[in-house]
Amino acid sequence: MSAPLQVRLPDAEATRAYGRALAGVLRAGDLVVLTGDLGAGKTTLTQGLGEGLQVRGQVASPTFIIAREHPPLTRADGTRGPALVHVDAYRLGSLDEVDALDLDSSLDESVTVVEWGEGWVEGLAADRLELALRRPRGASDGIGVDEAFAAGEDPSAGERVLVVTPVGARWAGVGLPGQDEVAG
Ligand code: ADP
Ligand code: MG
Repeated sequence: MSAPLQVRLPDAEATRAYGRALAGVLRAGDLVVLTGDLGAGKTTLTQGLGEGLQVRGQVASPTFIIAREHPPLTRADGTRGPALVHVDAYRLGSLDEVDALDLDSSLDESVTVVEWGEGWVEGLAADRLELALRRPRGASDGIGVDEAFAAGEDPSAGERVLVVTPVGARWAGVGLPGQDEVAG
């Protein structure tokens, strides 16, 4: 396992741009696990991944659908990358519903990105890229959206810190975006 990597993301566009850059190292079969409070930027980063992978459709926060597949578009050079399967398990009721998602083929053939997967996604794949997003500053450090409102802050504004933890042999020696930044 490689060392965790810490990246500062000053605004939402930086978060999307990180997703676009990360798409460059992803291939079919990869699993990306996103953690962080509501509003931390998980879907925003996934939107960048979708742009970088060049897949069809807008990556969004699903209302009723827990998993959405975005098929690859044909790129300017005629090639097509992997599909993006975006899982937002926020409304997942039970672990039976995880089975019903039937992620096995996606985990083999697509890039699978999971929000709210803590506690069950770890069992799906030994190799995964764990991305943890948080709001770093002042009174809002580590608190959720409601607490930020209560503290008189705009919970949608501002910097995020992303910690990237590569897990498993897949990531050994893989150069990740932001690796040049000094952690701390
Ligand atoms: P989540 O999926 O974690 O619940 P979203 O990506 O849906 O979060 O929402 C994050 C919100 O915060 C968006 O409205 C986005 O524009 C805003 N935002 C502000 N700064 C950032 C940042 N640095 N990174 C990501 N999102 C940010
Ligand atoms: Mg989300």
